[in-house]
Amino acid sequence: MIFKKGKSLYSILILNSIITIIVFIIGIILFFSLLVYQIYIAAGNIGVNINDYDANRVLKDEYNKIDISRLIDKGGWVEEVKDGKIIKVIGDKKDKIDDYSLKNLINDKGINNDYESKAYEVEGVNYIVKFPTYSYRLSHDLYKQINIKLYFTISLVLTIMLVSIVFILLTIISIKKLSKPLKILEKEINKMSEGYSDVGVNFNSYREFNRIKETFNNTVAKLEKAEEEKRNIEDSKKRIIRDISHDIKTPITSILGYSKAIVSGRVTNEEEQKTYLNYIYNKTNRINYLVDELFIYSKLDSPEYKLDLKKYDLSEFLREIIALYYIDIEEKGFILDVDIPEEKIYSMIDTKELERAIANIINNSLKYNKRGTTLSVSLDKEDIYVQISIEDDGIGISNSISKDIFEEFVRADKSRKTDGGSGLGLAITQKIVKLHGGDINLYSEENIGTKFKIKLKTI
Ligand code: ADP
Repeated sequence: MIFKKGKSLYSILILNSIITIIVFIIGIILFFSLLVYQIYIAAGNIGVNINDYDANRVLKDEYNKIDISRLIDKGGWVEEVKDGKIIKVIGDKKDKIDDYSLKNLINDKGINNDYESKAYEVEGVNYIVKFPTYSYRLSHDLYKQINIKLYFTISLVLTIMLVSIVFILLTIISIKKLSKPLKILEKEINKMSEGYSDVGVNFNSYREFNRIKETFNNTVAKLEKAEEEKRNIEDSKKRIIRDISHDIKTPITSILGYSKAIVSGRVTNEEEQKTYLNYIYNKTNRINYLVDELFIYSKLDSPEYKLDLKKYDLSEFLREIIALYYIDIEEKGFILDVDIPEEKIYSMIDTKELERAIANIINNSLKYNKRGTTLSVSLDKEDIYVQISIEDDGIGISNSISKDIFEEFVRADKSRKTDGGSGLGLAITQKIVKLHGGDINLYSEENIGTKFKIKLKTI
């Protein structure tokens, strides 16, 4: 079986996880983009001028050129420093530094991240001018004027909504893809309560589901076959009962008729009475034969039945059977052709039953074919098997019945004449061969002949 078709559920789950991570990352980017976009629009709306935040425009090269009032207005201040100590502050000092090393005095920028500073010396006096940095001022100004919390919430809600919609869509698609084959399976399983003939699934889904589909269809096919076999057994049982009743009823009806004629005194002539009694005797014999055959068949068919197996030389065994039937073969005017090797070929056999099996075949040949027919019996050893062939060049068996020949009550004579066999002979033969662990096959053609091949294991 090839299960390569379809993507595996495992890879699809990994793909879904990757898509989820990508959607999540896109969500984060979206969130920040929305936030920045809103702030940008809001900043534009409230007229925040970026130039106002450029420290270079305020902190000039020379101290005298600095617009001190503008500096103070924009959050800056000036510290007058002597010997590293602040002696005067112009504006509102917002940091905590009150002591400067010499190094800090000379054009040192970035004392902290919130303020930029620049040192000047004018006529022996040192000034340190401090001005809030761009980002500090912008964030402060914006924070004061813009409702950041609102924008944060809007961005968050929008992002969550978008990400959720994508997730829900992804989940719906995944569930639909997963549930479609399961629904089909469920429907077909429900149908199984009414029989298997119309049951079977056909979909192309993930590899794992395709595998379940194959297994399900195979199991249904097996169940359907078993159901059909059961039906056949039931039919065969019914047919057996019908045929037995017919085969036994016919001679009984005749016996009743003949005996009634005698008992009622309708037949007074002694000669006629003898003929009638002879009929009764023959019909009783027929019933006896049918019941015997039926008894043997049901005995062999019983699960408890065990063969009495013994190690026996099959060459010798076959020679003994032929000797037993030699007179019958002669009387019927048959030509006998025997090919049995001298070599001993051992097998585990129940001599009584296997003799019955082979005798059925020989008797059939003698019964159904005319004088002058050649009957050939041969034995061949092939590897660990031995093959017994019983063949005649008689009338043969038509194709229409040869396929069912080993079934009970199958006869070439469709009218089921009372003088025919029981129709159980070959069914009994096959049962015996199968009980020996062997096999039997028929090769026959009308007007050409009939050949039975029995294959047994040697030891
Ligand atoms: P039956 O008791 O009728 O002989 P079997 O099962 O032994 O039942 O045989 C089934 C039928 O097969 C017979 O009725 C007969 O028509 C046919 N048959 C069996 N062996 C031969 C044969 N050697 N030549 C021709 N017909 C045969």
